[in-house]
Amino acid sequence: MRIGQVEIALLTDGTALVDGGGMFGVVPKMMWERVLPADDLNRIPMRINSLLIRDGEHTIVVDTGFGGKMQQRSMKVMGITETGLLPDRLREQGIDPGKVTLVVNSHLHFDHNGGNTRLEESRPVPTFPNATYIAQRGEWEAATHPNERTKVSYRPDNLLPIQESARLELIEGNSQITPHVRTLLTPGHTPHHQSILIESEGKRALYVGDLACYAVHLERLPWVPAYDLDPVQTIETRQWVQRWAVEEGILLVFAHDPEINMGYLRSESGRYRIDPVESR
Ligand SMILES: [Zn+2]
Repeated sequence: MRIGQVEIALLTDGTALVDGGGMFGVVPKMMWERVLPADDLNRIPMRINSLLIRDGEHTIVVDTGFGGKMQQRSMKVMGITETGLLPDRLREQGIDPGKVTLVVNSHLHFDHNGGNTRLEESRPVPTFPNATYIAQRGEWEAATHPNERTKVSYRPDNLLPIQESARLELIEGNSQITPHVRTLLTPGHTPHHQSILIESEGKRALYVGDLACYAVHLERLPWVPAYDLDPVQTIETRQWVQRWAVEEGILLVFAHDPEINMGYLRSESGRYRIDPVESR
């Protein structure tokens, strides 16, 4: 798909199964189950997407999925059969991982940065040896100094090899990454969560990360995952993103929705709806 002069493609690192109650917080199962039916263990499918951006000068990967270092036990708990597929997905697009110039993480939870590193002789090393890895400084601090609530989401072997190889660049706040790519703080899921905006020739796309794991999260404001550290802030962030996306006709790109990869938001008598542009 093209956004002006920029080419974007969604790459998947497989599908996991997550607790439906966790994904919809205070919303009763009776309601969310109509949108995303659960299995016998109350789990719903969660796709693990990365976004590839090519503007002729840079080859950018946004988020890197679970990666290939997961233990069998955690794979079983999360219903994952196959993961660590991103390097192959890139090769399918004709891109060698050594050619990736930038890796941008929306945040540093292990389902978004697991593929930042890979095992080489059982030692974690950067998957993209020639890339600069970009993260928010506040998110990096949170990831490397987690508390009892947050530590389950961060894994040192996804983080430290990037710092040790001097490939890490920490940014603070909204930042222009390339002439066509900008990061925007979209807090709530974590305090320094960011979304990635692609702009070219008056067209725009926004990779929303975990601001809206599923398309329905941008349609219904109170549907906030129990995982979000500040649910009220999530709602406030979604409100300006909703208005902006409708006014400017921004293509929204989703990190986890098993059906809707991308879509446009529209407002109809006070209600928001996503019109999918690509489904599978
Ligand atoms: Zn996520």
